[in-house]
Amino acid sequence: MTADLLTEALSPELEARRAAHLYRSRRTLNGPQQPQTQVDGRDLLTFCSNDYLGLANDPRVIERFQQAASRYGAGSGASHLVSGHSAEHHGLEEELAAFTGRDRALLFSTGFMANLGTIQALVGKGDVVFQDRLNHASLLDGGLHSGARFKRYQHNDAGHLNRLLEKTSPAASVNHHNRRKLVVTDGVFSMDGDCAPMQPLIETCQQHNAWLMVDDAHGFGCLGDNGQGLGAGFSQNEIPILMGTLGKAIGTSGAFIAGSDALIETLIQFARPYIYTTAIPPAIAAATRTSLNIVQQEPERRQHLNTLIAQFRTGAQQLGLTLMDSPTAIQPILIGDDAETLSWSHKLENAGLLVTAIRPPTVPKGSARLRVTLSASHRAEQIDRLLAVLADIAQQRGVPEVVLP
Ligand SMILES: *Cc1c(COP(=O)(O)O)cnc(C)c1O
Repeated sequence: MTADLLTEALSPELEARRAAHLYRSRRTLNGPQQPQTQVDGRDLLTFCSNDYLGLANDPRVIERFQQAASRYGAGSGASHLVSGHSAEHHGLEEELAAFTGRDRALLFSTGFMANLGTIQALVGKGDVVFQDRLNHASLLDGGLHSGARFKRYQHNDAGHLNRLLEKTSPAASVNHHNRRKLVVTDGVFSMDGDCAPMQPLIETCQQHNAWLMVDDAHGFGCLGDNGQGLGAGFSQNEIPILMGTLGKAIGTSGAFIAGSDALIETLIQFARPYIYTTAIPPAIAAATRTSLNIVQQEPERRQHLNTLIAQFRTGAQQLGLTLMDSPTAIQPILIGDDAETLSWSHKLENAGLLVTAIRPPTVPKGSARLRVTLSASHRAEQIDRLLAVLADIAQQRGVPEVVLP
């Protein structure tokens, strides 16, 4: 009876979502994360993984994972502050700090939790958080739940941020002598693939005594000469709060915040999603250490990825498709209309290719897109195959005229 009432209450929203072509469903993989894999029992060539360097299925990473599991077991058994903090976690934190050029790093179980926990530990009532309007959901949620006043600035617009900061300068709020200002941005925007304008953002923050937090989920491992990412190309003074994830280019799972000793101690004391959750398995931390080492030792992975990115962009532009201003492995093709985007995605799948259709509310209305992601584990022929299928679909359906709102 209760279950029936629940179903009755929930159904209208589900129906509405389906009718609006916004319904989401999951695919089941029958194999590892790699370009050619079995999805729902079918062999597909995939262009939607965040495993940008092809490390999720690297034999060396897997072997270290297995060895560490034999030694430490399958699970961590507790949160970091109770008894779940192993030598592998600790060693990984030290290596992440050294790699990013920060005093210290702190492991979180997921990137979502790192963002929620950090923002909530740093700002609260009486403070102000400024965010790029296209920031990742975890950053927006962290800001919204923190209790701080929440201001969004136009995408990648340091000038607009500057105007907002001017309006909230201390003179206008004499009663809040300790008011904190936190500016938060994605390093690489997850649905667009473009990069935040770091230098202007850093200068704007410094002018207004605001703290800058950069979420480098998609840059870490891929960008920079050694893969330190977009954020790590700048010092701890320039970007005092640096976040990176381990489930994307690094190929394992988890996330970290890197910065000063005081920042890390503050998070250990006050970041609730750090304190009240089980530590990732020690074997994952161990595997991540091997992965991090490969990221530094094998720059050819990044070089190959960059070659594929250039190949894809040249080919897609020749077809007249609308790409975004992205130098990264995230290469969305703008379609605009939700149903049309789904239709392209279905046609790609009929041809044996998996490319995700991204629709609102993940992206703004009218900007639905095919989110192509490339990986160092793709081969040039596989990019050619994607381009050939896109050419066929464009011929059947026409090249979408995208009018952005
Ligand atoms: C994926 C992602 C996260 C979340 O990281 P998880 O470890 O997957 O929880 C946070 N921020 C951005 C920009 C992301 O793309």
